[in-house]
Amino acid sequence: MKFTKKKKIILVSILAILIVASIGYYKFSNTEEHKNIPYSKFTTLVNEGKIDTVILSEESKIKGTFKDGTLFKTDNPRTENFKEVLLLSDVNVKESDGNTTIKDVVMFVFFLGGFALLAFFINKNTAKQAQKEITQMSTIDNNNGGSDKTNFDDVAGNEEAKENLKELVDFIKNPDKYERYGARIPRGVLLYGPPGTGKTLLAKALAGEANVPFYAVSGSDFIQVYAGLGASRIRDLFKKARNAGKCVIFIDEIDALGKKRRGGASGGGNDESDRTLNSLLTEMSGFNGNEGIIVIAATNRIDTLDEALLRPGRFDRQIEVGLPDINARHKILKLHGKNKPLSKDVDLRRVAYETVYFSGAKLENLMNESAMIAARKNDEKIRKNHLDKAFYTVIAGEEKKDRSSVSYQEKEITAFHEAGHALVTKLNSPKNRVTKITIIPSTKGAGGFSMNIPPDKMYKTKEEIKNTIMTALGGRVAEELIFGENKITSGASNDLQKATKMVVSMIASLGMDKEAGLINYEAIGGDVRANGYIIKRAKTLLNEIYEETKELLSNNKELLEKLTKELLEHETLDEDQINELIDNKDF
Ligand code: ADP
Ligand code: ZN
Repeated sequence: MKFTKKKKIILVSILAILIVASIGYYKFSNTEEHKNIPYSKFTTLVNEGKIDTVILSEESKIKGTFKDGTLFKTDNPRTENFKEVLLLSDVNVKESDGNTTIKDVVMFVFFLGGFALLAFFINKNTAKQAQKEITQMSTIDNNNGGSDKTNFDDVAGNEEAKENLKELVDFIKNPDKYERYGARIPRGVLLYGPPGTGKTLLAKALAGEANVPFYAVSGSDFIQVYAGLGASRIRDLFKKARNAGKCVIFIDEIDALGKKRRGGASGGGNDESDRTLNSLLTEMSGFNGNEGIIVIAATNRIDTLDEALLRPGRFDRQIEVGLPDINARHKILKLHGKNKPLSKDVDLRRVAYETVYFSGAKLENLMNESAMIAARKNDEKIRKNHLDKAFYTVIAGEEKKDRSSVSYQEKEITAFHEAGHALVTKLNSPKNRVTKITIIPSTKGAGGFSMNIPPDKMYKTKEEIKNTIMTALGGRVAEELIFGENKITSGASNDLQKATKMVVSMIASLGMDKEAGLINYEAIGGDVRANGYIIKRAKTLLNEIYEETKELLSNNKELLEKLTKELLEHETLDEDQINELIDNKDF
């Protein structure tokens, strides 16, 4: 039997209350020990006038109090006129203590209730219990009413994601307008990227800007619940949202409930999470579109998501929320430094420079930690040395303690590698567009280089294919050229895969290698991967192209170094910056 965390807490609390109550009750009803005395002694003591009170009950025991206040009990072979004898001996007599019975009844009911509650929680698959679970879903975050409303000004960097979401503000506000124009109305947006990059913040900001409620849940809340419960939680969530009218629903860690189903439709996946996922999809298809409800999901593992989630009408808009580059980091630092007394010796640009691979959350943490240190020291301002100290607190516990120096090397290698790709592309044909180079890793891959080869053509020439192979090899070539044969890195693995595939297809299926001839090896049948001749031929051709690429880059080494230097400084270069750097050279 599985218990969710919440349920475990409730169970333990009920048990604890029962135990404490029984101990309390026991103590209360036996506040002091009753001294057991024989009946004969009792009669003697009565005669001696040592007894103060006697309580008569139905039980076979008599309890009472001595004159000195101590308690006693004794067996009860009552004589016929027992009470009169006692009264005559000047003993107070009370009939059995009625209060006790009422107390007992109360306790009995209490225990019964407690155990019923226990049984209720342990007994699974009851409708009532599901109901109970659902009531607990009122823990759903709904925080956008107050004055601390989040908006897009609270998000720094992430400009692309911001622009993308800004479009949705108007849609939430005026869904009818879009419907009138017949525009397909977005329902779900998937934000993907590393933790702490502001995905939740963006979703909140969207709700804040559109001035609608924000409902947040986490995918992990839906796993490990009883059968059918995940699905009913989803239904409940959407019901709540619909009742609220326009709103933003945020599902964090969507990968927890929308994992790729293993082994196809029939195969061994987790039925429960399938059910939950299906009910999410059903709810999303149930939108009319003009309700002004947007579902935003977040994940840092888009690769593991079930494709069903990404289809049209579901989370068909996917926005990457990546780690901030130096400019974005500077903006984030400024944002979180706004309400803090920063001393003049704090140079946030410099801090941004030194915090490669920091997420927004980590930067916020850094600023906050510095403020704490300054406050602890009762310093008037937050100073550079506070930030330095905070830096180590923030990165403490991470593998690489001396992140700044290690990362500089990594940064430099990455920069040369990426610059190599870009430069080869541009050198081979200035018409090729390189739209972006970055050394900040993206979720999709380690590399940070994007190019568009214009225009979309039906056919590719041999030269173009060869150029594409050169571009792929450009990263590794740059590494070797600058750092030497022994310092080349594993970063080129993907590039080599691409290059190999292209070379093999040139030889085996496109008839583009003179020596191999026009034979299309796939037409003959058999696996090209096992064809020794093709492998040998591919190796030769690839080496030739590699040497050619090396020559190209060594002839333009200065340009490579210049591009790399700029890249190291700015971390990301856009198309204009790239063109300006390269076009200045007459090659
Ligand atoms: P995610 O949902 O991507 O894991 P969050 O949105 O929860 O990240 O970010 C946590 C905190 O980090 C935010 O509340 C904010 O203080 C800070 N933060 C992260 N990204 C940014 C950003 N781009 N701009 C400003 N603050 C940010
Ligand atoms: Zn590469």
